[in-house]
Amino acid sequence: MAEHDVIIIGGGPGGYLAAERLGAAKRKVLLVERASLGGTCLNVGCIPTKTLIASAKTYLHAKEGERFGVRAPGVSFDWAAMQAWKREVVEKLRNGVAAKEKARGVAMVGGEGRLLGRGEVEVRVAGGAAEVHRARAIILATGSAPVWPPIPGLKDNARAVDSTGLLEVAEVPRRLAVIGGGVIGVELAGLFAALGSQVEVVEMMEEIVPFMDREQAPVLRRALKGVTFRLGCRVTQVEGGTVHYASKEGTSARAEADLVLVAVGRRPVVDGFGAREAGLDLSPGGVVVDERMRTNLPGVWAVGDVTGKSLLAHTAYRMAEVAVADILAAGGGSRNVMRYQAVPWVVYGMTEAAGVGLTEQEAIARGLPVKKATVSLKASGRFCAENGFSAPGAVKVMAERESGRVVGVHLVGAYASEIVWGAAALIEQELTVRDVKELILPHPTVCEVVRDAVWELE
Ligand code: FAD
Repeated sequence: MAEHDVIIIGGGPGGYLAAERLGAAKRKVLLVERASLGGTCLNVGCIPTKTLIASAKTYLHAKEGERFGVRAPGVSFDWAAMQAWKREVVEKLRNGVAAKEKARGVAMVGGEGRLLGRGEVEVRVAGGAAEVHRARAIILATGSAPVWPPIPGLKDNARAVDSTGLLEVAEVPRRLAVIGGGVIGVELAGLFAALGSQVEVVEMMEEIVPFMDREQAPVLRRALKGVTFRLGCRVTQVEGGTVHYASKEGTSARAEADLVLVAVGRRPVVDGFGAREAGLDLSPGGVVVDERMRTNLPGVWAVGDVTGKSLLAHTAYRMAEVAVADILAAGGGSRNVMRYQAVPWVVYGMTEAAGVGLTEQEAIARGLPVKKATVSLKASGRFCAENGFSAPGAVKVMAERESGRVVGVHLVGAYASEIVWGAAALIEQELTVRDVKELILPHPTVCEVVRDAVWELE
């Protein structure tokens, strides 16, 4: 039986970063991945979507360049070439991850991992025999999978795809129906609309992207050109490319499409690898973990989407580091614990949205008195120069009324994804309005508007 210090099941962001950090700390690590190193994020999630969005942005910039004095008549895009670029990016990054693991001395095996309990993991290599490996510590990083809701006509429907299927379509659909207006549905709706698809999104809630501040979600929604939203509508049936839905008032309607994207969410992968059988504590949301990512089983940690806590790659990274710190503390109880109050999120697209901390609605629900200010991105010279004067964009900042502590920053508009880390740092470090006022930010940048909004608070 092969012996290791740590065995990691799942080679996505949670698993591979844990392996890398443990390797750097000279631990003997076995990383077990049954599909592709990099997991959902690198192969069918964050990276391929952002690569295609980058191609679509380049296309739109070329098409709309005239107002910036740049003429490019007859601009067109080539979906097959965009796909080839996407594959090249994914492959190069995947090779980069593999090279890093190798450099850290991590042993990688392509196979199905199965938790046997008592520090043992069975690894079944495709077409090969099963081998049992042993370690003092095991990290579960099995990720998540798309949910296919039990809507009549969806299962075995050749026209219905999830995000993984949509990223691989041979051609851009003329009409795309999207079931679900969450972050994945919205990002893909925006991408295909930019490429000329007629897109219709059917969302059960009253607004898109449930974790967005309610003042900003409509701004993003209106910015998604070419996308029609049916809010507060429940899909009742799908027949081929026809999506039947009903409004709350009971009115029935349908969306006709060539392709139907199922984007109602993702579910942690908790079955099929011996977790239940080993007695792992599972909640409906995922594997139950404490603040050090420990599970109820001694010597077993869980990180990333499988915990169901945040379903974001960067949360998986941080969870991996917290679990690794605890493993390296060897039972001493690491002081490095998981905190969730400053996890930023982003909706990528032609117009971006991002945020961190509390929304105004959450602050109200907690009974937390806050002061708030919203400033248009048109306050930024850089934003206007690069996006024109009609592009949507705003920053909303909230601070606790009594202490002045910044508790929420929400952005819509270009560069939101690149600005939000600074906002996360403000919240994580518990900076106050006064602290932020004393910061010097580079000019001309869009991030200056965060500071402007803070000045507006008083
Ligand atoms: P995963 O990346 O899902 O990796 C789990 C791995 O475990 C998989 O490779 C799987 O094959 C393997 N595995 C499972 N069971 C076993 C087993 N028994 N044995 C061996 N291997 C096993 N997040 C962001 O932060 N930003 C984004 O922009 C973003 N965009 C996204 C876009 C899309 C379309 C999708 C679908 C997701 C996106 N996400 C994004 C979410 C992000 O991909 C996940 O949060 C992230 O991948 C979670 O990492 P993980 O390591 O927990 O799991």
